[in-house]
Amino acid sequence: MSRLALVRDPRFQKHQTPDAHPETPHRLVAIDNVISRFSLEHGLTELPPRAAETEQIAAVHKPSYIEKLHENALKLSGEKLIKLDGDTFMGAESFDTALLACGAGLVAIDAVKGGEVQSAFVAVRPPGHHALADKPMGFCLFNNVAVAARYAQTRGYRKVFIIDWDVHHGNGTQWAFYDDPSVFFTSFQQYPFWPYDSGWFTEDGLGEGRGHNMNIPLPRGTGDRGYLRAFDRLVKPVCQAFAPDLIMVSAGYDAHQDDPLGQQRISTAGYAMLSQRVVDLGRALGVPCVVFLEGGYNVKSLSESAVATMRVLNARNDSELGEVHASYLMPFAAASSNHITGDSSEHRVDERIDEVRGHFAKYWRVLR
Ligand SMILES: [Zn+2]
Repeated sequence: MSRLALVRDPRFQKHQTPDAHPETPHRLVAIDNVISRFSLEHGLTELPPRAAETEQIAAVHKPSYIEKLHENALKLSGEKLIKLDGDTFMGAESFDTALLACGAGLVAIDAVKGGEVQSAFVAVRPPGHHALADKPMGFCLFNNVAVAARYAQTRGYRKVFIIDWDVHHGNGTQWAFYDDPSVFFTSFQQYPFWPYDSGWFTEDGLGEGRGHNMNIPLPRGTGDRGYLRAFDRLVKPVCQAFAPDLIMVSAGYDAHQDDPLGQQRISTAGYAMLSQRVVDLGRALGVPCVVFLEGGYNVKSLSESAVATMRVLNARNDSELGEVHASYLMPFAAASSNHITGDSSEHRVDERIDEVRGHFAKYWRVLR
């Protein structure tokens, strides 16, 4: 039995964006190429996606919004695109592709629920974590991870823990579960950064959901050490205390040091180590992990880092894991050491982690 299911499909390339737009179909082609380079496809379980039903998407999005996107798609033909906001576009195939992207998450949930695999990687576009209940945002049409979390709850996963390590705040996911204590959302982001109206740690939930939304706003240039420290000091203890039935990840790779949009200086080795933290948490809690592709706009660093995550999730034993991590660390150890000065000094990063820890200590005894 393989440990990892991969949900991918060439049809995810059919969502078109304008020339020079960073969210391009090439992102998925590059991931496919790196999967082949490692012959990874032989060792994992590949699953085709299915289109999500409107009712399943309506667990997160307003029916009027779903209908509006559908109407837009019916009006379009050929290469024509509609600009939905400053940087979000849709073409004739985008609505069907977005249904399929949402449905890919549901296939992944079914696979881990059925016990066929311990984890799943959902390699889709358009991405989802900025999509709001009633509008598209930041290249996203439907919130894939949020729709899958709601579906998971219908499949017996009562408590879901979502980790968002995209460089941008996962605002859509935050607002989807803001007053809901059954879904814990935590998001690492460069801060201040787009989207500028959300992502600070005092946005910590509403009503019964208070303390179940943990933003980790990190200074520009934080790097591997700071991300891993934030994971160990914040995410790990709170996740263990929350004791979820399922861990989900909004895995954006735009915090990579080579990404054109973010400046967080994560290395490929750093993404492998972050992925390892997730695997370790899942194992400690005895729960599956489902990982969703979000951002990442340097196709080389995106594809190598996404496959680093897949390799960690799919490793069968400690020896294989050791080989995976060594393959990222050895040639580039000097380049990825992340010695950064200025506003991203280790001291400032640690201070911010302590601030977040101090704020959440009133909700989570484990942080005191
Ligand atoms: Zn992003």
